[in-house]
Amino acid sequence: MDVRFHVKHPEAVDVLVVGAGHAGCEAAHAAARRGARVRLLTQSLDTVARMSCNPAIGGVGKGHLVREIDALGGVMGVAADRAALHYRTLNRRKGPAVQATRAQCDRRHYQIAMRALLDAHPRIELCQGEAAELVLDGRGRAAGVVDATGVLHEARAVVITTGTFLDGVIHLGERTIPAGRAGEPPSRSLAEDLYRHAFRLGRLKTGTPPRLDGRTIAWERLEPQPGERDAFPFSELHDEVVQDQLACAIARTTERTHMIIQENLHRSAMYSGRIRARGPRYCPSIEDKVVRFADRPSHQVFLEPEGRDHAEVYPNGLSTSLPLEVQWAFIRSIPGLEQARIIRPGYAIEYTYVDPTELLPTLETKRVPHLFHAGQINGTTGYEEAAAQGLVAGINAAAKALDLEEWVPTRDVAYIGVLVDDLTTRGVTEPYRMLTARAEFRLELREDNAWLRLGETAIRLGLYDEGRARLYRARRERLERAWTRIRDHRLRPDAATRARLERMGLPAPTQPMRLVDYAHRPEVGVERALALVEPPRDRWVRRALASMVHYDGYLDKQREEIERFRRMESWAIPADLDYREVRGLSHESRERLEAARPRTVGQAMRLPGVTPAAISALLLHLRACSR
Ligand code: FAD
Repeated sequence: MDVRFHVKHPEAVDVLVVGAGHAGCEAAHAAARRGARVRLLTQSLDTVARMSCNPAIGGVGKGHLVREIDALGGVMGVAADRAALHYRTLNRRKGPAVQATRAQCDRRHYQIAMRALLDAHPRIELCQGEAAELVLDGRGRAAGVVDATGVLHEARAVVITTGTFLDGVIHLGERTIPAGRAGEPPSRSLAEDLYRHAFRLGRLKTGTPPRLDGRTIAWERLEPQPGERDAFPFSELHDEVVQDQLACAIARTTERTHMIIQENLHRSAMYSGRIRARGPRYCPSIEDKVVRFADRPSHQVFLEPEGRDHAEVYPNGLSTSLPLEVQWAFIRSIPGLEQARIIRPGYAIEYTYVDPTELLPTLETKRVPHLFHAGQINGTTGYEEAAAQGLVAGINAAAKALDLEEWVPTRDVAYIGVLVDDLTTRGVTEPYRMLTARAEFRLELREDNAWLRLGETAIRLGLYDEGRARLYRARRERLERAWTRIRDHRLRPDAATRARLERMGLPAPTQPMRLVDYAHRPEVGVERALALVEPPRDRWVRRALASMVHYDGYLDKQREEIERFRRMESWAIPADLDYREVRGLSHESRERLEAARPRTVGQAMRLPGVTPAAISALLLHLRACSR
C-alpha cells in the first residue's frame, strides 16, 4: 500500500495495539492501566480473544504465567475464572512449586468476558480493521499504521500481536487454504511490510484436532473426569472457583486407530513433506505420536466440552492434518466414539514469525524503536505465553509513549522473565512453550506466591487501582505476621499437647521441636501441622504460608543462588561497547556478542556460542574500563 493515499483517523493515540488475540488484549489493558490512551485495532471485533485451539487456560508452567499476569493486574485470569467449566490442579502429588492450575473454559463466554473487561476500561478503544503497513516518523521510529482501507492510525508506540496470521496457510490433507485460522483471512500486507523493514522472518506450524458433536459420544462408556471444586481460582480477586462444573471424560485410541493413521501418513501435510516448518514438540499431532511412540498400543484422548449451552466437544490429543475422510475413520475406531460426528475438521497451519532475538528484553524491536512485538509472532505457542508477552509489551509501550519507567522482567522474579529472556537471548528453533523445567529458580517461582512476588512491582508501575493495592498490602501483612508466629513456634510434648495430637491421629514428638520441622515428618505433613496453630483464614495467605513451611531451608539456599544471579544481572555492559577492543575474544564469541548486544554480563553468559573464556575476557575489559 502507498502511504500517501490515506485518510487520517481523527484521533491519535498513545499506544496502538494490532490484533485483539491473547497478547493484544493483555497489551492494551496493561498500557491503559498505566495511563495510556489505547486503540486496539483488529481484523474482526467478533473474534476478540478467540481461542484458536483448546478452550483451556493454564497447565504446567502456563498456570504460573496466568497467575503472574494476574498479580500484575492483568485480565487473562479474571476472564478464565468467569468462563471456567472445569478446574484441575496438575501435579497434585508433587511439591507446591510445580503444581499448576488448568481450567477448561466456555469458549464463547471467555470472549464475552474479555470483551467486557476491555470495554470497562475508559482508555481502551476497540476498532475493526486490518493493519497493512507500518508508518515511521522522520527519526525512523514507529508512529502508527495504515489499515487496509487506507486509514492512518497515528500513535506514539505500536504493538504488533498478529498470532498465526502473518502469511498463514491452512493444511487439511492434500488441500491448502490461505488463512490466519479456520474461516479467517491471513494477514499478507503486514507480513510483506515486515519483510521490507528487513526483519528476520521464519516459518513455524501448529495443528488442532477435529471438533465432535457431543450428542454422538457414548459418554456412559467412558471414564469420567470430574472437576475440582476446591481448586484455586486464577485471579486473586476471586475467592473460589465456579462450583457447577461440567465433567470431562477419557477415551483411548486403539491399534486400529494407529493402523488407519499409519496407512495414511503420506496424506498428512506434516508427513508428506509439504509443511517444512517446525511444529510444537510438546503438543504433537496424533500422526507424530503414532510414529514416535510406535510401541504404544494406545494414547489417551481427553474429551472436553467447549461450552455450557451447546454440544461441541474438543478431543484433546488428536491434533491432525490428515484429510477429513481419514479423520472420520480414525475417530470412529476409538471406543465410545463409534458414532461420533465431526462438526469441524482438524487442520494444521503454517505461518510466519519474526526472530525474537530482534527484540530488546522490553519486547521493543531493535530495528524500529517504539515498535513492539508480542505473542505467537515471536515464535511462541499458547495463549498464556502470548498474554504474558502482551503484558510486558503493553507496560513498555506505555513507558515509551508517556515517558514512564520501563520494565524488564528477569528470570529470578517470574516465569514471565524466563520467557522473555529465553526468547530475546536464545531465540527459537521450534514453537516455544513454557515448562517449569525452563526456570532455574523453580522453588521461588511458585503459583501460590505470584501475588507476593509481583505485587510491589505492580504498584510501582501503576498497574493496580487503589482497591487492588489495599488487598495486596493486607494479604502481605497477614502472611508476614503468620510466618513470624509460625517460623519459631516450638511443639512441646506436654500432657495437653500429647492428648491433642493423639486425638488428631498425629505422633507426639519425644522432645521439643520446631513446628516447621514437625511438619516435614512424612506421617504429619504441612496441612495437619498448620492446623495445630490456627492458620490464617484467607485461603491465599494460607496456601503461600504452607509452601513456605514446605520449602523451609531450601528457600534460603535458593535465595543465595538468586543473589549470585542478581550480581551478574546488575553488571551492565555499555550499549555502545566496541567488542573489537575486548582482548582475547574468539571470532565466534565476538560475532555473537556484537549481534546480540547483551545488556548485562548475566545475559551475555546465557548467549549460545559465548564461552566461559569469552566471559572472563569481557569481565577483565569491563573492570579495566571502570578504573
Ligand atoms: P492470536 O490469538 O492468533 O490473535 C491474533 C489476532 O490478531 C487475531 O485477532 C487476528 O484477527 C488479529 N490480526 C492478525 N493480523 C492482523 C492485522 N494485520 N491487523 C489487525 N488484526 C490482525 N497453542 C497451544 O498452546 N497448543 C496448541 O495445541 C495450539 N494449537 C493451535 C492450533 C491452531 C490451528 C492455531 C491457529 C493455534 C494454535 N495454538 C496452540 C496457538 C494459540 O492459539 C496461540 O499461541 C495464541 O492464540 C497466540 O495468541 P496471539 O495473541 O499471539 O495471537
